[in-house]
Amino acid sequence: MPAKIIDGKKIAEKILEKAKKDVKALKEKGTTPKLVVIQVGDDPASSIYVQKKRDKCLELGMASEIKKFGEKITYTEFLFEIEKLNKDDSVHGILIQLPLPEHLSHKQVFETIDVCKDVDGLHPANHGKNLLGKECFRPATPIGIMKILHETGVKLEGKNAVVIGRSNIVGKPIAIMLLNAGCTVTICHSKTTNLKEHTLKADILISAAGKPKLVKESMVKKGAIVIDVGTTKMKNGKLCGDVDFEKVRKKASWITPVPGGVGPMTIASVVENTVKACREITNA
Ligand code: NAP
Repeated sequence: MPAKIIDGKKIAEKILEKAKKDVKALKEKGTTPKLVVIQVGDDPASSIYVQKKRDKCLELGMASEIKKFGEKITYTEFLFEIEKLNKDDSVHGILIQLPLPEHLSHKQVFETIDVCKDVDGLHPANHGKNLLGKECFRPATPIGIMKILHETGVKLEGKNAVVIGRSNIVGKPIAIMLLNAGCTVTICHSKTTNLKEHTLKADILISAAGKPKLVKESMVKKGAIVIDVGTTKMKNGKLCGDVDFEKVRKKASWITPVPGGVGPMTIASVVENTVKACREITNA
């Protein structure tokens, strides 16, 4: 039997419905949750992602703004802008869209975001708390993945989980969250030798490499849950995941599509985190 397809859009809609009610309640108390999304440069994919986040917030009755800076913005100027947002009481969530230009990505920009407004969970304090399994803001995509796994109803404890990718925004935090949920976790990356040897052991396989169709049917254990985080824009304009979907589907028990799997969950988690930040900052 082919894998059941996990409808990320549908799960995200449920989360957003609840967020809409929370926003209404906060507004009745006199506060409107506000997310500011920072973009540096003109990367077309980033432009689409930041607009999607802002538009979803506005649709739910929240406030949201995109702060777009030129590639040449200096580190000092960038920090000054973040400091202004930290001090602005009307702003509850600050999200820096990645990638950043090299002169900024090598600096500790995430450390400068007020930890209470760090709705993408990239401040080292939030990374540390995630590691310790404590209450904190966790990165949006891993939160979305955990919710997707929860929706399958499959018990995570004792499962072998393999994560492809070790970025700070997806690979590392999801690996830690799976570990804290009782999985035995393997993290693979571009230097991993014989990737297939690892992936074949996975009851839960998460791919966040950004390499179209990297995960073939022959690399997947029968009955595995396969979560495809990868999104690569192809020449035909379509998005392609890391997983060879049609073939892997024949072997897996559950699988996420691209688009319509992890993507909508990421946006829903950013919204949820911003509402949470607003509630905590304002004590509403
Ligand atoms: P990233 O920073 O480029 O990290 C990619 C990771 O994959 C790196 O750790 C890299 O290893 C590893 N990798 C690359 N090629 C590999 C290979 N052939 N075999 C094994 N590992 C390999 O990317 P990211 O920000 O984590 O994002 C990953 C993908 O998810 C991208 O396609 C991105 O667009 C997508 N994404 C989607 C969402 C969503 O909401 N749907 C959200 C975030 C990201 P090294 O560390 O050794 O280089």
